[in-house]
Amino acid sequence: MRSMKKKVAFYTLGCKLNFSETSTIARSFTGLGYEQVDFEQKADIYVINTCSVTENADKRFKTIVRKAQKQNPDAFLIAVGCYAQLKPEELAAVDGVDLVLGATEKFKITDYLSDLSKNDMGVVHSCEIQEADFYVGSYSLGDRTRAFLKVQDGCDYKCTYCTIPLARGISRSDTLDNVLKNAAEIAGQGIREIVLTGVNIGDYGKGEFGNKKHEHTFFELVQALDRVEGVERLRISSIEPNLLRDETIAFVARSRTFVPHFHIPLQSGSNAVLKRMKRRYLRELYEERVAHVKRTMPHACIGVDVIVGFPGETEEEFLETYHFLNELDISYLHVFTYSERANTEAERMPNPVPMKIRNKRSKMLRGLSVKKRRAFYESQLGTYRTVLFEGENKGGYIHGFTENYVKVKAPWDPALVNTLHRIELTRIDEDGLVRFDFIPESITA
Ligand code: SF4
Repeated sequence: MRSMKKKVAFYTLGCKLNFSETSTIARSFTGLGYEQVDFEQKADIYVINTCSVTENADKRFKTIVRKAQKQNPDAFLIAVGCYAQLKPEELAAVDGVDLVLGATEKFKITDYLSDLSKNDMGVVHSCEIQEADFYVGSYSLGDRTRAFLKVQDGCDYKCTYCTIPLARGISRSDTLDNVLKNAAEIAGQGIREIVLTGVNIGDYGKGEFGNKKHEHTFFELVQALDRVEGVERLRISSIEPNLLRDETIAFVARSRTFVPHFHIPLQSGSNAVLKRMKRRYLRELYEERVAHVKRTMPHACIGVDVIVGFPGETEEEFLETYHFLNELDISYLHVFTYSERANTEAERMPNPVPMKIRNKRSKMLRGLSVKKRRAFYESQLGTYRTVLFEGENKGGYIHGFTENYVKVKAPWDPALVNTLHRIELTRIDEDGLVRFDFIPESITA
């Protein structure tokens, strides 16, 4: 007998924070008796959680809308997320969109479901971003192996290329008690790894009780999370170099749960470019942070965000970045090609770099990232690590990540899904992934 439950499907663009929020929004639907289905399936309601950083965000959005319309032309289509906050009218004008909710409304989405009849033009419920000064907690549950736990939102920095403060508002944090409660809830679901996420999580504690003060620090958050019963592995998603303190590094090195993996945005290796970006450090601080991490944990994995083609970036400044990264003891790069964003300071800066040159520079840094990752993996061969196996059978293989973010692979075995095992890293295979031998006294089956 066909279930009379209304079906809802979600599509998320962008960062871990967006995935944690989609998952929480989805639970508010299922809590009201909706049935959640995959986006590829026919649904009565489609929700798209948008991103303002994704390149061609507008094209991507339209493609996803068309996909939903093909599944069910009568479905009610809702857009939420950063792009919806920044350009609500633009999204509302896209054929098929019925409702656009801004940053203050996205978590109240189930209040807008009384009338699901299609609208000729999307209805916008948005706000001035200043009104988004309250905090809503969230965490993802979609993946059996790891969960993204939101601990902080918004940002008070003024990086000249960035729209996130315009899309997500001021820096504010969850209460420490609520973060610990969420972490325990996640662990209670049998999920073995929690990834702390936010916009500027090193700024954790700011606005915890709706004011500008820091009630707690990121270091206190890390210490408290390390004591939560049942939590096995904690990973810091990304942290600003100027907010990565010695005590946090030292604590991670001896902690029961935090893994030796730091993703630290650099953006440029040229101090002149860093100043034009209004980043809050110069390359010397970054270099010193990397050295401090590697001194404390030589096997730590360090990932780096870097932007190429920032306005005015000369060939010399780009080569400064290239050589700086080439010298640095880091493990991989996330390379972003600069693209103009409306209402940012950088958008009005002179001497835009031709796209052809931006792409050439991006290609060079992606090549460097492959070299760095290989060198890091080679440095780990012969060492003993703990892998957390994921849940997907990819071409007859199961994959997993060690605590220091080495990606390993083994023949598919369903019994390994979502288990932690002690292994010895032995060789790098033709796909650049690491093979290993199990160590008999595996930790937990
Ligand atoms: S720190 Fe800078 S780049 Fe990061 S979210 Fe804040 S303003 Fe954007």
